[in-house]
Amino acid sequence: MASSITQESIDEVSQKTDIVRVIGEYVPLTQRGNDWWGCCPFHHEKTASFSVSVEKRFYYCFGCHAGGTVFNFIMEMEKLSFPESVEFLAKRAGVQLRYSDGGYVPEKDDQGAKLKAEYKDLYGRVATMFHYMLTETEAGRFALDYITKRGISTETLEKFKLGYSPADRTWLRGFLEKKNYSAEFLDNSGLFSRKYPATAFFSDRLMFPIFDRKGDVVAMGGRFLRGNADKSPKYLNSGDLIQYKKGSTLYAFNFAKQAIREQKKVIFCEGYMDCIAYHQCGICYAVAPLGTALTDEQIRLVKPFVDTVLLSFDSDGAGQTATKRAILLCRRQDITV
Ligand SMILES: [Zn+2]
Repeated sequence: MASSITQESIDEVSQKTDIVRVIGEYVPLTQRGNDWWGCCPFHHEKTASFSVSVEKRFYYCFGCHAGGTVFNFIMEMEKLSFPESVEFLAKRAGVQLRYSDGGYVPEKDDQGAKLKAEYKDLYGRVATMFHYMLTETEAGRFALDYITKRGISTETLEKFKLGYSPADRTWLRGFLEKKNYSAEFLDNSGLFSRKYPATAFFSDRLMFPIFDRKGDVVAMGGRFLRGNADKSPKYLNSGDLIQYKKGSTLYAFNFAKQAIREQKKVIFCEGYMDCIAYHQCGICYAVAPLGTALTDEQIRLVKPFVDTVLLSFDSDGAGQTATKRAILLCRRQDITV
């Protein structure tokens, strides 16, 4: 039987969590009577029909009837499973969780969460290794020279944990096998070719770890640096993985979310490099969609916090198409572009 969080622990987290404060970080709330009100983050609206009751420890939207506990809210907003949302809020409230071998949490959910955590762990480890390759090894020197020439500072490079994936495409598998990962686990990791599982998906590239909103590495993007440019795409990106959905993830959102909240605006930019450049010059509310056109879901991630959306795509044909599409999507969600 999988271990699960005890009911006492869940109750303790619930009691020590100020639901208005938690939800208030996502939705601006004002007090009216006993309850707090704001515009619903789950449907489009201009007048507030979303209420939070301190007494009942509950939120409810009179427009779309979304409602639940603070755990449900965090599950929705942070895209977490139930146990993950308890852990998320426990950390915030400083509650030490106790686990038992009881069936409160459905085992399937628990297994999924466990596997996700294991893959995040793997990606974190690989990102650290690639970062080391870039900054400390002779093999990574030319990649380091490249980004230094592009004006990226050491501080920025550390913050975004940029890396270098070795040219030897068999190296990564060997390295990870020594760490006792199972073949099946590695086969499904997205780090290797589907057809030739010994072959690394990323090789001889400048690597950009992709973080989730908590700052854990969940995926990777790699920029082509040298060799036959006709044969290799400029950017290779992780596809959807158990711990990563690219259509609902924004690059650098983990670094940007505070600035987005404070300044009530966001810049959507073209790619990793542009985004990093904005952050380096102190414009920390820049994020980028991941190798795809901007999606509705990505806009919904930032929507509760922003008054204004700024677009910074290239002026070439593809960039203009992306800009038009983004404007349409934002208008549909009643956001000023
Ligand atoms: Zn609603």
